[in-house]
Amino acid sequence: MQSYSESLRLQGKRIAFVPTMGYFHEGHLALMKEAKKMADCVVVSIYVNPTQFGPKEDFSKYPRDLYRDLKMTESTGVDVIFYPPDKEMYPAGYQTYVDVEKVTKNLCGMSRPGHFRGVTTICNKLFNIVKPHVAVFGKKDFQQFVSIKRMVDDLNMDLQITGLPTVREADGLAMSSRNKYLQKNERPSALTLFRSLKLAQKLYSGGEKKSSVIISKVKKLIKKADCTDIDYVKICGTNTLNDVKEIKSQSIIVLAVKVGKTRLIDNHVFGEELKV
Ligand code: AMP
Repeated sequence: MQSYSESLRLQGKRIAFVPTMGYFHEGHLALMKEAKKMADCVVVSIYVNPTQFGPKEDFSKYPRDLYRDLKMTESTGVDVIFYPPDKEMYPAGYQTYVDVEKVTKNLCGMSRPGHFRGVTTICNKLFNIVKPHVAVFGKKDFQQFVSIKRMVDDLNMDLQITGLPTVREADGLAMSSRNKYLQKNERPSALTLFRSLKLAQKLYSGGEKKSSVIISKVKKLIKKADCTDIDYVKICGTNTLNDVKEIKSQSIIVLAVKVGKTRLIDNHVFGEELKV
């Protein structure tokens, strides 16, 4: 992969990169199609990265289907699928990690210790292997997007990071490979995530700027749905990801909720369009 990318670079070609864990949906395909507009060659990696899963998380049962994924990319114009095995990514003796200190601490960093260290480490490794000019991420995983941007800035890495809006199902549910885990009867409950973001935006548009008021109304709505267990509902600054008491410009509401056994996340930047 490294020498192929180097040969493209020597020919003056631009490389766009979309890192993924596979089991594609329209959200992944949207990133790939956008990447195609930005470069001569689009590389997509499929790698379920063990270091970003906690010991009690779903690493072994995370959905994987390479042939389905290859078929789905056919319409996107992707040029290269990079599909490395674990023993090449983390060979015996592996011991180097990248830790972005502050923006990884709140939100999912609290409930998934070590998760972002795994994410930034694998992205750093993949950037070194794929040598992209631009890498494309989804803002559905907003804290991941902010952490990667921070790492790239802090370590003077020579690539551009682009974030794209969340792609949703027709009913508003944010697309996710983990939606496959949802039981049929859990789907209405999963939808309360989107509904609660809409409620938050409506309250904000109506003049409410106090985070605590919006958070408590959102929590109330989510708790009313069956089989929901709130991990967090927070309102933060979009750059620092620290909690804010008053909503100003550039504030985001971020949620993580377990629906049955499936942990779902979603978010909305106040004032931006929230559409399906
Ligand atoms: P994953 O395979 O879940 O690691 O996701 C790979 C990339 O796709 C990440 O940059 C995600 O943020 C992005 N992504 C996942 N779901 C969506 C979605 N519904 N809309 C847009 N991007 C997404």
